[in-house]
Amino acid sequence: MHDILQKVINSERIDKDDAHYILDNINTLDIGRIAMIRKNSLDPSTNVSFVIDTNPNYTNICETDCSFCAFWRKKEHSDSYTLTVDKILEIVKTSYHNGATTVLLQGGHNPELRLEYYLEIIDKITSEVPNIHLHAFSAPEVFSVAKYSKISTKEVLKNFWNHGLRTIPGGGAEVLSNRVRKRISPLKIDADNWMRITEEAHNIGFKSTATMMFGHAEEDEDIIEHLFKIRNLQDKTSNFLSFIPWTFKPENTFMENKISTEIGGDRYLRVLGLSRIFLDNFKYIQGSWFTQGFKVGGVSLHYGANDVGGTLLQENVLKSANNPYRAGIEEIVHIIRSEGFQPIQRDTFYEKIKEY
Ligand code: SF4
Repeated sequence: MHDILQKVINSERIDKDDAHYILDNINTLDIGRIAMIRKNSLDPSTNVSFVIDTNPNYTNICETDCSFCAFWRKKEHSDSYTLTVDKILEIVKTSYHNGATTVLLQGGHNPELRLEYYLEIIDKITSEVPNIHLHAFSAPEVFSVAKYSKISTKEVLKNFWNHGLRTIPGGGAEVLSNRVRKRISPLKIDADNWMRITEEAHNIGFKSTATMMFGHAEEDEDIIEHLFKIRNLQDKTSNFLSFIPWTFKPENTFMENKISTEIGGDRYLRVLGLSRIFLDNFKYIQGSWFTQGFKVGGVSLHYGANDVGGTLLQENVLKSANNPYRAGIEEIVHIIRSEGFQPIQRDTFYEKIKEY
C-alpha cells in the first residue's frame, strides 16, 4: 500500500497491478483516503457540481435485447413507442421552462429510424430551444443509425456535428470487456467498436462522457480493463468530460433471477475510489445517488466523486427497473452540503452556472 500511496502523493500514475492490489488488499476506508488525495491534486476545491437536466427517450423499440435492460420492447408490444420529432421538441421546451439546461436524449435501436429523424431532432432543438444543450446519441446508437442508414459511423457523426450536436453521452459502455458483453449484451457493439466510435467522435471535436455500469457479470479484471481503455483514450484526445460509474439495477430485467442481490455500498465505493485513483487524467468523476441512494451517494464524495450528475426531471430506463431514487435541486444541494462540500450548478461542459 505504501508504494501506491507514494505514487498518488507524487501525482504519478498507477498501473494495472496496483489496481488489482487496491481491490484485493486495501480496506475501503483507506481506498477513500487515497482517492481523495488523487481528487485533491486534480481538483483542490471543495466544489461538487450537478446539472439540471432531463432524460427523455425517443423510442423504447430496440432490437439489441440486452439482458440487463428493463426498458426495451419489441414493436408489437402494447406499450412500445416512438416519439415524433414534434413531441420530443415539446418535451424539451417544457423541460427548458422547468429550468433544465441539458437534455440527455437516448433511445433504443429501432430499425425504422434513419439518419433524417436524428438530424431533424438536432435541427429543431438547436434552432427552437437554443438555450438548452442537446447531449445525445451514444456510441451504440451511432452504430445503429449507421447500420440502418447504410453509411459509416464517421459519416453519421459528421452529419450530427454539421447539424450542431457538440456532445455525446457515454452510454452503452457497460463494462468494456468483450467477455462480459458476450454474456449480458451479445447483440450490442463490442468494446472495440465502442472505443472506435468514441475516438471518431473525439477526433471530429465532440466532447463525451465515459460511463461504466457494473455489478452484474464482471470480475475485477474487467473493471480494470475498462479503466485502462478509457484512460488511454483520454491520453490521446482529452475529450472525455467526466467518468460516470453506476450500478446495475436487476428488477424487471432478464438477469433478475440470475443475480441474487444488487451490489451494495461497500463494493460501489471501492470501485469508485479505485476509478478516481486510476483515472489520473479525468477531472470530474460522478457519484451515483441515483443508483446507490442518498446516503451512499453522499459518502461517494469522500471517495473522489466531485459531481453528482443530473436532477433527471424525466427518466425512463431505470424507472423501468423500479429504481426508487428521485431528487430535486433542494435534495441534491442538501446531499452535497451535508457532506461538507460546496454545491455548484454546472452546464454540460462542467462550467459553473450558479453557486448555492
Ligand atoms: S440497453 Fe439500450 S441497446 Fe440494450 S436493450 Fe436497452 S435500449 Fe436496447
